[in-house]
Amino acid sequence: MSVKENLAKIQADINEICGRVGRNPKEINIVAVTKYVSLETTEAALNAGLSHIGENRAEAAVQKWHALQNRGIWHFIGSLQTRKVKEITGKFDYLHSLDRLSLAKEVDKRLGDGQVMKCFVQVNVSKEESKSGLSPAEVIPFIKELVEYKGIQVVGLMTMAPFYKDPEQTRPVFQKLRELRDDVHSLKLEHAPCTELSMGMSNDYGIAVEEGATFIRIGSALVGRE
Ligand SMILES: *Cc1c(COP(=O)(O)O)cnc(C)c1O
Repeated sequence: MSVKENLAKIQADINEICGRVGRNPKEINIVAVTKYVSLETTEAALNAGLSHIGENRAEAAVQKWHALQNRGIWHFIGSLQTRKVKEITGKFDYLHSLDRLSLAKEVDKRLGDGQVMKCFVQVNVSKEESKSGLSPAEVIPFIKELVEYKGIQVVGLMTMAPFYKDPEQTRPVFQKLRELRDDVHSLKLEHAPCTELSMGMSNDYGIAVEEGATFIRIGSALVGRE
C-alpha cells in the first residue's frame, strides 16, 4: 500500500468517527511519524498532502529536515536529551515530550529572539514504568513553573497509551488526559493555552479521535516500516 492509499483509509476512518461522535474532522491533525522510514518515503508523505512530520531521533531528523529544504511542520515526539536540544531548535515547531524543567530551560535558552516552541507536556497516564512523562498529579504544578521560560508555549498534553490487542482498553487513558487538559485550560494561563491533545497511534487512533485527540501520531499504518 502506498502512503496515499494508507492516508485515504485513515482519513475515511476519521471522517466516519467524527460523523458518529459529532466532531469536525478538520480539528484532527495527522502527524506522519517517519522515524522508521527513509528520506524518500518521508518525501512521499509530504507529496501525499501530509504536512506534519514526526521524528524521534535528532540526528536522523535533522538530516531529513535539511534534505527536504524546510518543507513540512516538524514535530519532535521522542525523549530528548538536553544536549541534543540545540540540534532541533529553529527547525522543529513542536515538541511532544516536554517532561522536565531542565529540558524547558535548555529549549528556551537555545531558541532565537522571539521564537517559541509549541510544547506538549508528556503525561504517563497509565503509570507504566517503561514510559516517560509526568504523573497526572505533577502536571499542573509543572506547567505553572514553566511561566519563567518565555519561549515555551504549552499548547497541550501528550500521552502514549499502553499497547493493548483490543484498543478499546486505551479509552480510560485518553479520557484521563482530556480531563487533565480541560483542567489546565481552565486555569487560563497565558503561557499555557493547553487546547490540544496529542494522543493515538496506529493501533488506537480511532479511540483517541473519539475521545478528543487533535493530533494523532501515526507511523506504521501510514508510512509503513522499512
Ligand atoms: C513511534 C511513535 C509513534 C507512531 O507509532 P505507530 O504505532 O507506528 O503508529 C507515535 N508516537 C510516538 C511517541 C512514537 O514514538
